[in-house]
Amino acid sequence: MAIILDGKTTAASLNDATKIQADKLTAQGIQPGIAVILVGEDPASQIYTRNKHRKAEKLGMKSVLIELPETVSQDEVINEVEKLNQDQSIHAILVQSPLPDHIDATTVTNSILPSKDVDGFNPTNLGKLYGRQPGNYPVACTPKGIMTLLKQYDITLAGKNVVVIGRSVLVGRPVAALMINQNATVTLAGRFTQNLKALAKTADILVVATGTPALISGQDIKPGATVIDVGINRGADGKLTGDVDFETASQVAGAITPVPGGVGPMTIATLMQQTVELTQWSLNNGK
Ligand code: NAD
Repeated sequence: MAIILDGKTTAASLNDATKIQADKLTAQGIQPGIAVILVGEDPASQIYTRNKHRKAEKLGMKSVLIELPETVSQDEVINEVEKLNQDQSIHAILVQSPLPDHIDATTVTNSILPSKDVDGFNPTNLGKLYGRQPGNYPVACTPKGIMTLLKQYDITLAGKNVVVIGRSVLVGRPVAALMINQNATVTLAGRFTQNLKALAKTADILVVATGTPALISGQDIKPGATVIDVGINRGADGKLTGDVDFETASQVAGAITPVPGGVGPMTIATLMQQTVELTQWSLNNGK
């Protein structure tokens, strides 16, 4: 039976550390501030954004939730971002995805100042990540949270064969870059990959981020491998499952993240951590 990589507990200690840092900054007169923009009324997005908003408040940060109607224009959303770019009390800006079809998500996220881009989607921050540049810059929260979880369990990357399934800018691409930067040998797979399951079986560390329930099961996993299941899928019975069949996979893997309670809690804790980091970095830059 695999070791369970417990994201809930790891996230709770990360949140404790974040609160200490947030309180320290507030005592210096610089309360960390995060703003989340939500467009439309997608129920899942409403839950995600409200959870982020509440968590930030709980950790002692300033938290602003801007809810805009589905019919808002792209220019109006960018206008909101620009106001937040100028607002000295806000250090982190996040635009919740998905956006309605009439709004180009890339144009909107590119309008966030790189120094406030808590999701790490701005081309400046992506470029620094891919170029393995020195210095401090934000990185997408789910991949960064995965790296924290691996570190917590002393799972190292150097020399390991990693297979990442799913190539999104939110998860697959940045997690591949982070792992390459730690000297893993990374294969980034997607829908067009041939013999996907045979490839998965070569991985010492397998990251699955596709949104396809039970894409990977025990027979596709190398015995003893570490399995990171990023997927969040809601079944007809309302239960959450990942992209990995936990029951069979946990019999073969050496370590595995559960869904829920694995990567999910790490994402939000990392968002909070990175808001505090952006606040600290803004001070260091003299802003
Ligand atoms: P996305 O739809 O943007 O990207 C999915 C990627 O997986 C694409 O590259 C697609 O080609 C690939 N893919 C889909 N089905 C595949 C298949 N059958 N075989 C091979 N490749 C396949 O999704 P995303 O934003 O990267 O999210 C992926 C999953 O992770 C979703 O379930 C999402 O809800 C979840 N997610 C979880 C967290 C978290 O905090 N736990 C954070 C972000 C996303």
